[in-house]
Amino acid sequence: MQPRDLSAHAPYVPGKGIEEVARELGVEPDELVKLSSNENPHGPSPAAVEAAQSAAEGVHHYPKASHTDLTAAVADRWDVTPEQVWVSPGADGSLDYVSRAVLEPGQEVLVPEPGFAYYSMSTRYHHGEVTTYELHEADGFQQDAATVLSAYDGQRIVYVTSPHNPTGTEFPREELRELLAAVDDDTLVAVDEAYGEYTDRPSAAELLDEYDNLAVTRTFSKAYGLAGLRIGYALVPASWGEVYAQINTPFAANKVGLRAALAALDDDDHVEQSVETAAWAREYMAERLGVPTVDGAGNFLLAAVGGVETDGTDVDAETPGAAVAAAAKRRGVIVRATGSFGLPEHVRISCGTREETRTAVETLNDVFAELGAAAFDPDAAGPPDAAADGGDPSTGDETPQTEGDAS
Ligand SMILES: *Cc1c(COP(=O)(O)O)cnc(C)c1O
Repeated sequence: MQPRDLSAHAPYVPGKGIEEVARELGVEPDELVKLSSNENPHGPSPAAVEAAQSAAEGVHHYPKASHTDLTAAVADRWDVTPEQVWVSPGADGSLDYVSRAVLEPGQEVLVPEPGFAYYSMSTRYHHGEVTTYELHEADGFQQDAATVLSAYDGQRIVYVTSPHNPTGTEFPREELRELLAAVDDDTLVAVDEAYGEYTDRPSAAELLDEYDNLAVTRTFSKAYGLAGLRIGYALVPASWGEVYAQINTPFAANKVGLRAALAALDDDDHVEQSVETAAWAREYMAERLGVPTVDGAGNFLLAAVGGVETDGTDVDAETPGAAVAAAAKRRGVIVRATGSFGLPEHVRISCGTREETRTAVETLNDVFAELGAAAFDPDAAGPPDAAADGGDPSTGDETPQTEGDAS
């Protein structure tokens, strides 16, 4: 026998792990600068590590109290009821829970293009149909209600990502209100705030009181530095009551992760440091990369490469972005080609520590020149930071003042 027809299911292509790439290149992992998965360059909060270690001793028990405790802390943080907090294995797990709770077979889900692949994947897993709305490079991938509504046709779920991955652009509050007001009452607007900590803008969670068709997803994988522990959550309408109990996979969020997340939630210094470093790195890269970049608010920057002159040695590099990523990898810097997001001529560079970020910029400018990247302007490539200190202070260094080129 065979599984069901999976021909529409594109496999998720994650950024390669650092150990994998190190093995492939025959080097040690610490010789590489890995800026391909939007991970936290500062690592996890020390308090979270300690909590994980002590939780490890109790992993013969199912996670019950740990789940209740994190749910209560998150509810408290957002001023919602515990029933509105759906803790899950990563925010990807939250997307699955939302699909499970909302979708009937054959119903449509509207997702951004370019955009995060898992919205479509989760939809298909749950027998839904995917339709897309387009964000346009010509207007800087701007996000607003009109852009979404131009493709809206009563879909059951509409996904919005703010800050958006991979562009970093945001969906302004007033535009979100306009969208929520314009869609049908039985359309859920799901706002994915995986990078919500990195922006100064208020969370859509503040609107949960006002709208009955809004959900917000957040994660501990990015600013909190716990990607390997897989904890995220959805905040859902109050009217959904006890639905979580009807749809969740029992004990899917693991005890070590839950305890670490609870500790991380309290470590404001760690999050602040992570957010500050990301802001510094975004500006540094925007100012010094010799290609156009998109003004974004995540812990990464999207850069336009344009066409490249490949010499045919890169059999894997079917797109300009992939050719740049492959050449940078040979020089020890791992960035993300964005072909799988629908952007074959871009790369996404995660914000590293100051030292990593400086190395990445120098390496990428070399690669752009070497490959003759069409978007590369050597005069726009800033000099390396003269104040390079080799360390990674989270404060103190002067922040570059020049705005990035918003392509
Ligand atoms: C990273 C990310 C997520 C979720 O990641 P998890 O590790 O599953 O929590 C969700 N949405 C976007 C846009 C992301 O970039």
